Amino acid sequence: MSALREQDSASAAELARNRAQLLADAGLRFGASLDQELTYAAIATVALPGPGAWCIVDVIEPGGTLRRLDVVHPDDEKQSAARALIGRWTPAADDPIGVPAIARDRLPIVISERAETAVVAAARDPETLRVLRWLGSGALLVVPIIAHGSLLGAITFVGQPGARSYHPDEVAFAKALASRCAQALESARLYATARAALADADAARAQAESANETKTKFLNTMSHELRTPLNAIAGYAQLMELGIHGPVTEEQKTDLASIQRSQAHLLGLVNAVLNFAQLEAGYVVYAMAKIQLIDIVRDAASLVSPQMHAKNIGFSLERCDESLAVNADAAKVRQILLNLLNNAMKFTAPGGSITVVCTHDTRKDIANAASEDTRDLPREVTAARSARAVRVTDSGIGISPSDLEAIFNPFVQVNRRLTSSDSGVGLGLAISRDLARGMGGDLTVESRVGAGSTFTLTLPAA
Ligand code: ADP
Repeated sequence: MSALREQDSASAAELARNRAQLLADAGLRFGASLDQELTYAAIATVALPGPGAWCIVDVIEPGGTLRRLDVVHPDDEKQSAARALIGRWTPAADDPIGVPAIARDRLPIVISERAETAVVAAARDPETLRVLRWLGSGALLVVPIIAHGSLLGAITFVGQPGARSYHPDEVAFAKALASRCAQALESARLYATARAALADADAARAQAESANETKTKFLNTMSHELRTPLNAIAGYAQLMELGIHGPVTEEQKTDLASIQRSQAHLLGLVNAVLNFAQLEAGYVVYAMAKIQLIDIVRDAASLVSPQMHAKNIGFSLERCDESLAVNADAAKVRQILLNLLNNAMKFTAPGGSITVVCTHDTRKDIANAASEDTRDLPREVTAARSARAVRVTDSGIGISPSDLEAIFNPFVQVNRRLTSSDSGVGLGLAISRDLARGMGGDLTVESRVGAGSTFTLTLPAA
């Protein structure tokens, strides 16, 4: 008696070992690839150990449709007949087996009574019925494939006619097998989703890049095509003005001056558009060097002061420490300052004032640190943190709070009515801020309507 018991427990231990091995193998096989179809193919090989048990594997595709992945039979001859059913024997929503059988409770079910009737009911045509009858059906065990609360499919195990029904141990083993399938399917689907998202992002980037390239090409071509005839207009107007083609009356001189002013205005606009297109396309190269701030400020000021004087605007250069040096591209700093000074002049009525101040300044993000005593810090740290600023303040019309950020956007102009006789296309500040940022600085504004504006250009200290 005790010898029999020992034999029983030895074979139970052997069975448990075999099942653990089978589960481990299945896990490895199912998860060997992240490709969804390869995972499907591996899952389609699931089988319960035991003679005659065959199975039907169904999955719910990501779109929600049911797909019969495979019918697996341990007998070679029957296996090829079973495989031939794939593609023809599709699962239906009212099947008594597969996903529909467990969709509601998502728990394994065992059908031992009238099991053959259930399989036969799932056959949709005489040929399928014939094959299914040949495969033979006994007790059924349907286990759901569930990952993270989502039902991904079901495996229907079919016993041989007349064989005993499923033991709870076998149900537990089938559940464990289905859980390995679920993990593999989930990983393959997550991978497919991630790959699709990556492909979408790549496509979107390529589209954006190509659109940007087309836009830049268009702007460059247009700017070139516009500049050539504009230069011709200026040249011929000058020839006429010089009297090369005969005497010019005073009225004609006035008209020629108008032509030249309009030509200069249009050329300015075309240049601004070209400049902006180049910045947008990232074509701008910065010749960074250590430069004395005062030199550029004086240079820009000398260019605009005659016009300021003519317009009766008070102009002063205040508190500009000669020693302040920045690391920047001199030509670009000059371009920004000229834009700020021209704007200040445009939006300030005669009798008003414009001042320029250069300071030891700090950028916003380092404002607190820079106000600390930095004597103990290494030189390169203090240098990296500090910045210099040029402030252009006018007593002009000011800018309303709602427009303060918008004016830095391309083609934005506010109070256009007041300034319609002035040049400008709304690109000056957009270009200036891009240039300032391109040099590691920034361009900001503070203003009150009616009380004037202050534009601050910050640049890294040299
Ligand atoms: P543009 O001067 O060619 O119109 P900008 O980009 O230089 O383009 O300026 C955009 C807009 O910002 C201007 O149209 C004007 O409405 C506003 N602006 C710029 N500078 C000043 C200023 N100093 N005072 C008041 N408004 C200004």
